[in-house]
Order: sequence, then C-alpha cells, then structure tokens
Amino acid sequence: MTPSDTGPELSHRFLPDLTDFNRGFWTSGSDGVLRVRRCTACGTWQHPPRVMCPQCRSRQLDWAGTAGVGSVYSYTVNWRPWNPVVPVPYVIALVELDEQAGLRLTTNLVNCDLSSLAIGLRVEVVFEAHGEIYVPLFQPLI
Ligand SMILES: [Zn+2]
Repeated sequence: MTPSDTGPELSHRFLPDLTDFNRGFWTSGSDGVLRVRRCTACGTWQHPPRVMCPQCRSRQLDWAGTAGVGSVYSYTVNWRPWNPVVPVPYVIALVELDEQAGLRLTTNLVNCDLSSLAIGLRVEVVFEAHGEIYVPLFQPLI
C-alpha cells in the first residue's frame, strides 16, 4: 500500500499495489463500470477475488460488469480524527450489490447526509480516481 499523491484533500487514501490478480477491480472504474470477479462456469459473483469459485470450484473466473447499485448492509460513522489530514466524520460501510446476496464491498459512503444513513439505504457507485486506480465509493441513489 502506498499513500495517494493526487492532492491534499485526497492524500489520506491508501492505495493498493496493482497486481495481475486485482487490477481488474481497481482499474475498472475508468469507464464508470464496477467490475467484480464472476465464475464463467456457474455465474457466481465473488468479492474479494479468489482463484477458485466457492460454489463449483471452477478456476474459470473473469471480470464482469455490475450495475454499480446496491444497499447498505452495515455502516459506522467515524468521528475520531485518527489521521489529522482526514476530515471527520466519514462513513465506513458494507454495501451489498444487487447482483447477488452476500456480494459485499467495504467502502466509504460519500455525498451523504448523516441523518439519512440507514441499513438498506439504496446506493450507487462513484469512483475516486488516483491515476489508473479508481476507488469505488458509494452515494445515495437518487
Ligand atoms: Zn462457479
């Protein structure tokens, strides 16, 4: 992990090292589409990516585009300024994508009024670009 160098307001974001295994996820937002690993044999989605399908044990997995829409499965609001360059409060959430029950991403909710936070809140992906990396964040679906 290396710190972002894209500007003072985003300098808090720690970015992944890209590998052949994770590149499809972290760069997929370049065209506005959130891609997740999907088994080409049985269609099961999975995240985080694995080498084998947990349903049918196939190793035939590929990156497939999602609708980028889901629901807040759980969340917490961080009020503690752990890092002085990160403005508080911020929201850490588990978002379950519509494509499959249990297909969840850990993310931040943005552009969100804290009073509107709720389990089940409908959200859509937005991407925060850092060079070739597009961090998937979510905002309330309007
Ligand atoms: Zn499978």
